[in-house]
Formats: sequence, C-alpha cells, structure tokens
Amino acid sequence: VLMLAIETSCDETAASVVKNGRKVLSNVIFTQIALHTQYGGVVPEIASRKHIEKINQVIEEALDQADVTLADITAVAVTYGPGLVGALLVGVAEAKAISFAAGIPLVGVHHISGHISANYIEHEDLEPPFICLVASGGHSHLVAVKDYGEYEIIGRTRDDAAGEAFDKVARAIGLGYPGGPKIDKISAQGNPDAIPFPRAKVAENEYDFSFSGLKSAVLNYLNACRMKGESFSQADVAASFQKAVIDVLVEHSLHAVREFGYEKFAIAGGVASNSSLRAAFERECEKRKIAFYRPSPLLCTDNAAMIGAAGYYEYRKGVRSGYDLNAVPGLKL
Ligand code: ATP
Ligand code: MG
Ligand code: FE
Repeated sequence: VLMLAIETSCDETAASVVKNGRKVLSNVIFTQIALHTQYGGVVPEIASRKHIEKINQVIEEALDQADVTLADITAVAVTYGPGLVGALLVGVAEAKAISFAAGIPLVGVHHISGHISANYIEHEDLEPPFICLVASGGHSHLVAVKDYGEYEIIGRTRDDAAGEAFDKVARAIGLGYPGGPKIDKISAQGNPDAIPFPRAKVAENEYDFSFSGLKSAVLNYLNACRMKGESFSQADVAASFQKAVIDVLVEHSLHAVREFGYEKFAIAGGVASNSSLRAAFERECEKRKIAFYRPSPLLCTDNAAMIGAAGYYEYRKGVRSGYDLNAVPGLKL
C-alpha cells in the first residue's frame, strides 16, 4: 500500500509518500515558522493563505522524491482535525480533489493519532499495546495505545499543554518564538537546579498534568528579579523550567506504565524532540526495564509521514472517508 499523506493542521505544509505505514519514501515539510516569528506566534489567516500557496508544490515534490506518480498511489490520507479550521480545510479540500481525480480512496486521519504513529516509522518492530506520552503545542496526553488507532486517554493537562508552556516561558525570558527549540538549546548552558520551580500534582487524577502554576512561578520569579533591580540568567531560568516540566512528564508517564502493567513506552509530539527530555526518558526507562520508543526529532514535530503511518492502519481496518469529510478543529481522539 502506497499512501500519499497530507498535513496542514497548523503552520507546516507537509506531504509524504509512505509504504505500508512504516517506510517513508519522501517527507516534504514547508515550515511557515519564519513568517509567523514577527508576530510572536501563529496567525491563522496567514497560515491558511500560505498553505494554499504551497500545497501543490509540496505534494509534487513528495511524489517526485518518492519517484512515483499519482497512478502508483493506493490511497490519500489527510489530517482533518484537530487544528486551525482554515488551515485544515486546505489539506482536506486538496485530498478530496486528488482522491476524486485519481479515483483512489480518501482516509481522514486524527492529527494526534499521527503523532503517536510516528513511532511505527522509527521502530519497525513496535506493535501495540503500549503507553504513549503525547506532548505537543496543543496537547499533553498520556494515552494507552490498545491497538492500531485504538486509544484510551488516561491522563491529560488541566490547563496549558507542555509545548504551550515552553512557548510562553520562552517569550517571557526574551527568547522569542518558537520557544521549545530555543529553551532546549540555551538550557545546555544553564543550571537545572538553580531555581526550585514547582512540580504540580493534580489531586483527582495522578496521571493528569498542570503547567499553568509552573508558568506563573517563572513569571513571578522574573518579576521579583525586576523589582529588586537584579538581572536573571536566561539559561538558568530555561534549564530550571525545563527540568521541572521533564520531571513531571517522566514521573507521571512511568508511573502509568507500571500501574497499568505495560512493558513498552513511547513519546510523541513536538516536545518529544527535546534533547533533555529524550535523555531523561532513556535513562529512567533503562533503570526500570521498560522498552523505550521515540521518533527521530524531525518526526516529532508536524510532518505528513506520521499521517501516512496512521492513515495506513485506518485504511487496513477498512476506514474510508466520503467527500463530505470536513475539517473538525476540536476533533477528539
Ligand atoms: P498539536 O500537535 O497539539 O496540535 P502542534 O501541532 O502545534 O500542536 P507540534 O508541532 O507537535 O504542535 O509541536 C510544536 C510544539 O513543540 C511547540 O510548542 C514547540 O515549542 C514544541 N517544541 C518543539 N521543539 C521542542 C524542543 N526541542 N523542546 C521543547 N519543546 C519543543
Ligand atoms: Mg508547527
Ligand atoms: Fe502537532
């Protein structure tokens, strides 16, 4: 099965050709980051317009690099939610047009199912069941992957997503957008134990997350420095904040793996590309004899190859979308 996959849920225009859900023949990503940097975040209208401008070129490149034509493609998979409605619509309309013109099935894919499925690409032998931590710009979920495309959410954030916290803290300490990679980089020069930021627990569910208190603690620390007329170390604040996030993610995740009796654990989403987070999970999983899986950093942030992987398993189950497929910005997993 050769899947052409399309992803336009946020600020990446992406297309990919994936064979049997695991082998990536091409993975083309046009990122709009530079466009949105001057506004300090993603501007939805600009994102949609740029997707329209780039989508055909990105798809052509994906087919070219895979050395195939539309005639070789078995089905077309597309992200239809969650995400920005205008951005999603560009991919959905394009996928429908290709499906109709080429006479091939259309498969709508959940963006977070895509993030999780990026692990199948990297690890040929990985099969469900396993626990996956999804930490991205809009989600912080602990998910039990029961089978391909079959998920049960066992923990979620009560407020900010992990990636959102990275982006907000980066802005507060003057690193700018996008925050995650910048905090990752500067943290290497900082002391992660310099400032004792809080590790929040959520009373009702030990697997839930909360990052807004941590974000406030960072803002309070910065204000206190300013009041006293003292300067602060960007690197120390970044490293201490990052450590606080990672500690909580590691503790809750691996507690869930043990309590629910799983043997395998995976990470997914943009925050999963964080170098300290990857190192922490590697270390802790080894200590606890848990098999650890992670996509390469490029497959953690938004891409279409992961949509091709998730789409393949939907296709294999017989899932076919009609031409009434619509963008669903708040789509549930
Ligand atoms: P969602 O997938 O929830 O709909 P999204 O698609 O916008 O949201 P992703 O592309 O999966 O999110 O991830 C982007 C997020 O990941 C941003 O918040 C970004 O700051 C964060 N991120 C990216 N790289 C890193 C990194 N190295 N360290 C920490 N965070 C990172
Ligand atoms: Mg993005
Ligand atoms: Fe994403």
